[in-house]
Amino acid sequence: MTVDRDGMENLPAALDLAAFERTSSGLFRPVGALPDWLRLDHDTPPEIDLAERFPLLEFFLSDCASVFETGTPARLESDVWEEDEPDGSRRHLQVTALKLGSRSLAILRSLPRERFTYQQLYHDYQLAEEEARQLKQVAERATQAKSEFLATMSHEIRTPLNAIIGMADVLSSSPLTPDQQRCVEVFQRNGISLLNLINDILDLSKVESGKVELETVSMDLRDVISRALEVIDGRAKAKGLALKQCIAPEIPVYLIGDPNRLRQVIINLLGNAIKFTDQGYLEVRVEQDPEGAGPASLRVAVSDTGIGIPEEKLSLVFESFTQADSSTTRNYGGTGLGLTISRQLVELMGGRIWVESQVGRGSTFFFTVKLGVDENPSARTLPEPAQLSTADLERKTSGLRILLADDSEDNRFLILSYLNQANCSIEIAGDGRECVDKFRAGRFDVVLMDVEMPVMDGYSATREIRRYEQEIGICATPVLALTAHAFADMADKSREAGFTTHLTKPIRKTTLLRALAPYSSLSPSASGPSAVSLADQPTQDEPSPDETNDTLLVRVERGMEDVVPAYLDKRRKDVQTYRQALATQDFDTLRMLGHKLKGTGTGYGFPILTEIGGAIEQAALRKDAGSIAAGVDRLAWYTEKVKLDYAQ
Ligand code: ADP
Repeated sequence: MTVDRDGMENLPAALDLAAFERTSSGLFRPVGALPDWLRLDHDTPPEIDLAERFPLLEFFLSDCASVFETGTPARLESDVWEEDEPDGSRRHLQVTALKLGSRSLAILRSLPRERFTYQQLYHDYQLAEEEARQLKQVAERATQAKSEFLATMSHEIRTPLNAIIGMADVLSSSPLTPDQQRCVEVFQRNGISLLNLINDILDLSKVESGKVELETVSMDLRDVISRALEVIDGRAKAKGLALKQCIAPEIPVYLIGDPNRLRQVIINLLGNAIKFTDQGYLEVRVEQDPEGAGPASLRVAVSDTGIGIPEEKLSLVFESFTQADSSTTRNYGGTGLGLTISRQLVELMGGRIWVESQVGRGSTFFFTVKLGVDENPSARTLPEPAQLSTADLERKTSGLRILLADDSEDNRFLILSYLNQANCSIEIAGDGRECVDKFRAGRFDVVLMDVEMPVMDGYSATREIRRYEQEIGICATPVLALTAHAFADMADKSREAGFTTHLTKPIRKTTLLRALAPYSSLSPSASGPSAVSLADQPTQDEPSPDETNDTLLVRVERGMEDVVPAYLDKRRKDVQTYRQALATQDFDTLRMLGHKLKGTGTGYGFPILTEIGGAIEQAALRKDAGSIAAGVDRLAWYTEKVKLDYAQ
């Protein structure tokens, strides 16, 4: 656009404008005649200082420097301001800064007064509001239509797609020529990536349309992370990548939040990490957010030793459908939506997400979330990992390095028999002191810690272990308390001591295996199919002993044939010890014997012994010799009468 200088000289008067051209000294030279309303003190001066004449323009004029200094046409408009007129009325003024060709102009206008009556303003405001309301309605209808369309589309596409993928799976396990096999693999691969894309789009649209409601339930953070790691466990093994997890010991065990959404974000990040990493390791690290408030503000870091992201792409990867490199889809697949969804979910959970990376060295994605602390986890049972059969659980826990601290030989024996098929390596400690010493000397994936032990109890031993870990700067090893007490009584104490979770005696075999399973994905030697495929299998409950059997015929579980007769034998012999203690009113010994019987009975298949033990323990606490004697009689009678049948 060009302006004819001469034509311009005549414009201001015709349009009732005051036009100025900026000179090299930063002052303004009038262009053409100036209107009266400008009320300059003397006749048209060669140059005027606009900022001095209109002090309200000072800031605007300094902003104008950017307009005046550009080489291209540019325009900037000031706010409207008012000036008093001699007749008491008010004039509304506005200035526009223009860069036209090489000319820097300031055009001052007096605006028509009627436009600025308050009625007019109010009317304009109402119009604008109505317009906004209608726009919002249109937008809402559009979003709703989009969501409905996506939901329908996703259903319509997913149903046949599932059939295609399913049939491809069936076909791939039938005898095929190598060429046919390759064709089927193409179906499978593309079918699955299409399914992922649909799921991602659906997820994103749900978050965008505000349809995602976060749950606020009690959760075990360790369980959330272990389950996320389980999902990529198979792929990590196939690529030879180590998986690491580290949760700072000061993070409370039980938190309140949305475990599924949290896990989804971690899985997204781990999924990327494994995709872009060919050697080294992946790590999930959780610490308290240094900028957050309280122990439940977390900062999670998912790191890898993969290809990394160039610096100029770091801020782009969180945008929808954006990949760091245009060849990414070709080489690694993906849709460019995973991080967008993760960012939305993290923001929904009150946090933020960012990435640090170095090309060729790896990336670390950080995110923060604000969760609550579950102060009263008494109603909690153990985390329920995917419903696996005993055999699956045994396979999963295979290879775990366990340190078991228990002073009761029977208990130790019981745990060892439970883990007999699981192929774990187990080191034994007879008391808390020995446990701490062995912990310092060895490397363990998990510690099973009895709470009541001589020399040093489980609480003190766990505290020492936590102190030691902090001292040498290693991550907290899971320590599972073995206790005959209800958790409600010991929640605070155990949390304070640093236990990861607890198992209440009597402990069943599947309970123990389930409790150990989440830690197995961290053990490099652990093997077995990934949790994704296992998760679909139904539970096979272990055979439960017949608790009310009148004939006292007890079915002994497979693998327990050797240990059960010896256990019963010992209990028969204990009867004498009980009677001696009763005679000398040694209630401490009686309580201890009862406590141990309670802890082991069910594990060996005799819930009745657990019940008798509990009754003796309680009676000993009350120093109620009559009830103790009745309990001991029941014990003697039961251990004499019980007949064993062996499960095949
Ligand atoms: P995609 O489905 O493509 O993985 P994302 O939104 O999850 O979509 O990631 C966007 C892009 O960010 C990826 O395509 C990749 O270029 C880059 N990226 C994400 N995570 C990593 C990582 N751990 N290492 C290297 N590049 C990554």
